[in-house]
Amino acid sequence: MKFRRRTDRATSLNRSLPRSIALAGLLLTIAVTGLNLWTMREAWRDTLIQSEQMAVNLSLSQARQADDTILQTELSLREVQHQLLSQMATGVNGAALSDTMQELASRLPQLHGLFYYDGTGKWIATSERQIPKGINNADREYFHFHRQNPRDSIHIGPVIRSRSTGELVIPVSLRVNDAAGGFNGVLLATIRVDYFRHYYSYYELGPQDVLVLMLADSTVLYARPMPDSYIGKNLSSSHLFQAMLASSDKGSGQWRAALDGQARIFGFARSERYGLVVAAGYDKHTLLRNWIKGQVEDVMLDLALLLGIVLLGAYVLSQARRSLRYQQELTRLRDELTAVNLSLENLAHADGLTGLANRREFDLFLQQSLLDAAQQGQPVSLILMDIDYFKRYNDTYGHVAGDACLQAVAAALKGLALRASDKVARYGGEEFAIILPGATGADALSIAGAAVKAVSARNIPHNSSSIAAHVTLSAGCATFQPESDRPEPQALIEQADEALYLAKHGGRNQARRSA
Ligand code: GH3
Ligand code: MG
Ligand code: MG
Repeated sequence: MKFRRRTDRATSLNRSLPRSIALAGLLLTIAVTGLNLWTMREAWRDTLIQSEQMAVNLSLSQARQADDTILQTELSLREVQHQLLSQMATGVNGAALSDTMQELASRLPQLHGLFYYDGTGKWIATSERQIPKGINNADREYFHFHRQNPRDSIHIGPVIRSRSTGELVIPVSLRVNDAAGGFNGVLLATIRVDYFRHYYSYYELGPQDVLVLMLADSTVLYARPMPDSYIGKNLSSSHLFQAMLASSDKGSGQWRAALDGQARIFGFARSERYGLVVAAGYDKHTLLRNWIKGQVEDVMLDLALLLGIVLLGAYVLSQARRSLRYQQELTRLRDELTAVNLSLENLAHADGLTGLANRREFDLFLQQSLLDAAQQGQPVSLILMDIDYFKRYNDTYGHVAGDACLQAVAAALKGLALRASDKVARYGGEEFAIILPGATGADALSIAGAAVKAVSARNIPHNSSSIAAHVTLSAGCATFQPESDRPEPQALIEQADEALYLAKHGGRNQARRSA
């Protein structure tokens, strides 16, 4: 029972341990993967934040640069304005103005040209070598603007194509007043769009990244890397103008560009002086692609680590399984060995034919019983029994039948009502014995009588017996008295043998007690 329980425990351990290890491995894998995904997500967020920051910085620097470019242009215009006003009283000297304009235009790389048109739109002076004939600029947007607005401030208009050179230019203009404050024409400076195109090409931007310069009213002045057809587009309905610039002059965010519908990470800034708007946008897909490229090495390393963990786990699992198998095998062998030992021990004390205690066990038990009895002041009785005419039985029925007869007699003795402390033994050949610790002589005689009766009652046929037609038994008993006898087995055996002799000579099939 005890061994079975241990084996059961080992079997359930064999099932639960690998399961626990596998579960731990699975949890570890999930944890490592989760941690990696979380770290990657954070890294991607950081990348987005950094990109937004870069886009804002780029926008701010470009807005500042645009302001500077216009300011330099305004200063040139003011200088011409100053000269023009000084000429008003004496009459405008177009040639002198043109010289000044030429000088100023040569100083500023962004300047395409400087011009003065009178109140009718007629060309009066220009930085260009010749005044083209038959051209009037009264139709231009800036001309209308200044004729309507008496303010003496710079006006930046949408991009136009130069009538003199055909280049795309940004018109920057000032109103000219006569002495009475009436409209007396427009002073115009044109800035090459190519100047910004060239300037913006210095920046390392991807093919899908954009850098856009716009007027305060959202009209595109230049958009890198879009074709020139994007120039002049109105972006007032864009997210930038509708939401972002409505609340702040600079900032960042992610949205789809109104220009081409692409998702980008944007930064934007409005210039302080002229209110020009610059937006820089990094293509989100390109950014993600580059980011993933940067992560590949880390991911590979993590995967290798994970694989290592899994392999290690699998190895530990197989080792655990193997050691459990060994343990189970050992337990099984130990149990078998214990069972064999137990049966060997039993065999060493039992008689092979009848299953009763053997002579060795009889000797040991009698010795111990006598010692105990002497110590406790208790009697011990011994009954010796011998089958009557057994030699004849063998001769009549054969030795094999004789063995069967011995087994039948043993069974009859086992069937006697005895105490747990009594011992029935095969004394030798066809002789049996019963040791009865604590039994008096009278008790022993009564049990001996019962034994004789039990064997007779079995009615085992014995035709050659001189006293009955069946097998009978003679018994002799003797009792050890602690107060008078020495606890010597041999003495008690001899007394019982004497009583047996009396029974034999008294006619057999009976029990006798020693005198
Ligand atoms: P008595 O009534 O005087 O005891 O006569 P008996 O013939 O029983 O006495 P004896 O001692 O002369 O014979 C005992 C016989 O028991 C001799 C032997 O062949 C037989 N015997 C002893 N051990 C065994 C055994 O293990 N198996 C068988 N079949 N016979 C046995
Ligand atoms: Mg005999
Ligand atoms: Mg006999």
